[in-house]
Parts: sequence; structure tokens; C-alpha cells
Amino acid sequence: MSCLRKCPRCGEHSFEKLNTYSHCAGCLYFEDYWGSPETDFYNALKTLEELDEAGLSHEVQDEPIVESDDQQFENTLKGA
Ligand SMILES: [Zn+2]
Repeated sequence: MSCLRKCPRCGEHSFEKLNTYSHCAGCLYFEDYWGSPETDFYNALKTLEELDEAGLSHEVQDEPIVESDDQQFENTLKGA
């Protein structure tokens, strides 16, 4: 199924609109709909701030959840 539309740059009916990006085969006009990792990072920080202001923040866990191989090895030596 074709989903070609009118290109906003060259006006030709060769603009393909997709979920993650759109492009024009005629003039190579391109639109990217992915967020950048940097933008996502700052959005996440902003969300954390908002949660903090609302008193809904939780402590960020600094401790590793999974034991490292070294720790597991030491525990094995101790017979734990
Ligand atoms: Zn075009």
C-alpha cells in the first residue's frame, strides 16, 4: 500500500510518511521522528524534578542489584 503524500519542500507526490521518519524520493527531504538520547535524558531529569517537588520521589539505589562475579567468587570461598 502506498502512503505517498505531497512533499512539503518540492511539492511532488513522492513524500513517504512512516512511523519513525518520512522522506521524499524526489528531493531527498527528510523528517526524523526519533527523540535524541540527550533530549530523553533531560526529559527524564525534568520528570524526576517534578516527582521530587510533588513529594513522590524515591531514593535512587546506588548499590548494584546484581552481585558482581568477584563478590560471588568471594562468597563461594567463604562457603556462603
Ligand atoms: Zn520533495
